[in-house]
Amino acid sequence: MSDFFSLKMRASRDGRHISGAEKIVPPAAVVKTAATLAERALGHPKGAPDFINLKIERTADPVRLESLPVTTHRVATPEEGRALAAQLLKGVGIANIDAIMARFAETHSLRGAMLLDADTLERLEPDKERGVRATYMDDAESLAKASASGKNHYAEAIVLATKVQHAPGIIAEICVSDDPDYATGYVATRDLGYRRITMLKHKGDPNGGRIFLYRGRREDVARTIDFLEHTPVVVEHVPVLTDEIPERRFELIKAELAEIEANGLTRRLRLVPPEALVLSSNDYLGLAGRSGSTGSRLTTGTHPEHLELERRLATFKGTEAALFFATGYMANVGVITALAKKGDAILSDELNHASIIDGCRLSGADVIVYRHLDMDDLERKLAACREHRRRLVVSDGVFSMDGDLLNLPRFLEICRRHDAFSIVDEAHATGVIGKTGRGLFEHFHCDHPDLTVATLSKSIGSEGGFVCTSQLLVDYLVNRARSFIFSTAPSPETAASALDHLDRLENEPELVEKLRANVSFFLSELYRHGVETASESAIVPIVIGDERRATEVSERLLSRGFVVNAIRYPTVPKGKARLRVALNASLTREELSRAAEAIAECLSVRSA
Ligand code: PMP
Repeated sequence: MSDFFSLKMRASRDGRHISGAEKIVPPAAVVKTAATLAERALGHPKGAPDFINLKIERTADPVRLESLPVTTHRVATPEEGRALAAQLLKGVGIANIDAIMARFAETHSLRGAMLLDADTLERLEPDKERGVRATYMDDAESLAKASASGKNHYAEAIVLATKVQHAPGIIAEICVSDDPDYATGYVATRDLGYRRITMLKHKGDPNGGRIFLYRGRREDVARTIDFLEHTPVVVEHVPVLTDEIPERRFELIKAELAEIEANGLTRRLRLVPPEALVLSSNDYLGLAGRSGSTGSRLTTGTHPEHLELERRLATFKGTEAALFFATGYMANVGVITALAKKGDAILSDELNHASIIDGCRLSGADVIVYRHLDMDDLERKLAACREHRRRLVVSDGVFSMDGDLLNLPRFLEICRRHDAFSIVDEAHATGVIGKTGRGLFEHFHCDHPDLTVATLSKSIGSEGGFVCTSQLLVDYLVNRARSFIFSTAPSPETAASALDHLDRLENEPELVEKLRANVSFFLSELYRHGVETASESAIVPIVIGDERRATEVSERLLSRGFVVNAIRYPTVPKGKARLRVALNASLTREELSRAAEAIAECLSVRSA
């Protein structure tokens, strides 16, 4: 016999529903859980019940499922929300989202969810008045997480969505709240996870509910419904959503800025008025013109081009603000040393770029290196840093030597859960990743890290680094990032050239498309010549191993007219020397073919 009990509570007054909840617990927890559920029923903000039904029954052993990962998309209008939902669901072959959404006019009277054939939109529930009720499910850590009111709506919705996406034949769910004042909803699939969209309907619209989309044989529908309505499920690692986590990390920043202000020490960026007589410039011989900025950004070095570039970079990345640094190297060093010092912890991917490593070393914080892209290792190590004052997690978005990608949604979710600053270096992602080259958030359709660092020296074809983040953190960096404060600003000419190139990237997204096509063509040409490798970015690594041999192959290629750098220790680990091919949008197919053939030939020549 199984060793679990299901507890279900429903409370009502005058026959009208007030609240409900359910749990699945071992026998030892039954009494305490029953008391908690009764307390919840009695103390519900909607009012006192006159009837509480508490059902306790033995269940089968619950199936344990890993929670769907959660991503929040902030959208400005319901139209934008629905367009995003449509785009996300196209991935599972759902093309008729408008017709599906229209069915929410019928769901709000149902007690359960509507089960639709994903293609014909036919209703599949045997009882159309009631719909299908997903039930017998719980959050493995629910007791530890319950909020002051004893209930965590987000967690309950994630548990339900996780169970539903594991039901046979279900390919997606769409949920819109039936509360007229609450416009947030979500779409979920196994692959996308739980995609919370902040606006899926207009305020005041009472229509809402759940629609489960089914694709499969009609004779199997009963099995799906049986799973949803009867199989006990316990969901593990349900993330706590951002809105509920106290974000202490920002409170510390605000307090520090307030202290700087109270001491009269706030630094602010300002333009030199054109009519003023400048008695603070470093342009001692008056030679600078537009090719020198004449000083640090906080003295005489801020020109209109700098401010315009910062505004445009923030818009491009979709963040509130941005800050321009002299180089990407200085941006990483500045950000990390501003945010972390002795007593703080920095968690850093073992293959992060040298500028991140140097920032970590300079900061004086405890640096904890986690295994490359291993989010479980990150989570374990982060959990052990609770006692540190602040936690920072830093990762390359696209790794510079392997061209592989950070799983940004998972990374952000872990950082938030531990109230850690998330910092992602998009030096190789900007202009490359995402449909229009905006970076990982565009590729994954997810939120931004707290800070995105990048450079103008790669896809943007100019010079300088930048950070995209909130206004609060820009204000903080202006006051705390030493590589920003104590170094001369790049020239207005540099900023203007970056602006020109940013215009091109924004106006010609086909460049990004072309680059992507070049990468897949090049990979297939290499494969045709017997060289197997992979890439999710513009960087194509061809690992050779031996350092000397890598140099030899690179030199052989140069003698045939191809520049392909050999990368060796310490840039990559010992014994992992490689050719590092970095492609661009202007290469032709013919050039790519020739290069792939030459690489294959030079690789096959034996060492002398
Ligand atoms: N981050 C990464 C991942 C890089 O590859 C680079 C450049 N090699 C930088 C930062 C530094 O950028 P910059 O060249 O603008 O200093």
